[in-house]
Amino acid sequence: PPVLECRNIRKVFPGVVALDGVDVAITRGEIHAFVGQNGAGKSTLVKVLTGVYPASEGEILVDGVATRIASPVDAEAAGIVIVHQDQQLVGQFDITRNIFLGREMSRAGLLDFAAMGREAEDLLRRVGAGFPATTLVRDLSVAQRELVAIAAALARRPRVLILDEPTASLSNSEADHLFGIIRGLRESGVTIIYISHYLDEVFDLVDRITVLRDGRLVSTSPVGKTSRQRIIDEIVGRSLSQLYP
Ligand code: ADP
Ligand code: MG
Ligand code: MG
Repeated sequence: PPVLECRNIRKVFPGVVALDGVDVAITRGEIHAFVGQNGAGKSTLVKVLTGVYPASEGEILVDGVATRIASPVDAEAAGIVIVHQDQQLVGQFDITRNIFLGREMSRAGLLDFAAMGREAEDLLRRVGAGFPATTLVRDLSVAQRELVAIAAALARRPRVLILDEPTASLSNSEADHLFGIIRGLRESGVTIIYISHYLDEVFDLVDRITVLRDGRLVSTSPVGKTSRQRIIDEIVGRSLSQLYP
């Protein structure tokens, strides 16, 4: 079965139907892009999958088993972890403390700062960061903070890692570094959901592309079986792209 699947997911906010019956399956080991215009429902979908919001309707299956994901803790227990579009790091804390924020007591009640520091250094190595875990987050660049946010997500041992527009504020070379990290994570068996509206990077990086528009799923295709033009047509709606070629 798919590692993660949603069936008929609907999410209604006051006055807005953000998701209107979305079905999508994520295959184990793939990098799967969610694309769509601003407001298409990408972030809402992954927030439902990670228990940030409850769905108004629908079902989530993990390894083929219907699973209640009512909180980020439930999602983490199911192996699903998200790096949000606006990462929430605390500037005046160092990296180790940010990575283990709210989890210092999780090890049998012991505050083992030395062990946390070593694990933080290991995680920073996994994301190819060239700075120590004792660095204060406020002294990091935006790109370095993104790496720390991913390191913090990896500390949760995800089977499915969701990245919501991780390159939005990165330069091309910073984004290239990140793609190398993401490919390495796939090699190590992590399934990735990758949200972006940069189609060049999506076609370069991912195995499968799902298009959302107005809260609905338009298509899901392996990258080799679609084209950039088709995806653009699906993102904006065919009539619009014919009107403004
Ligand atoms: P995307 O990530 O594709 O840009 P979103 O999932 O953020 O889209 O938004 C989908 C729709 O849901 C938009 O109309 C947005 O305004 C609305 N929406 C998203 N989050 C909230 C919220 N917390 N409260 C009310 N409306 C929301
Ligand atoms: Mg948006
Ligand atoms: Mg979004």
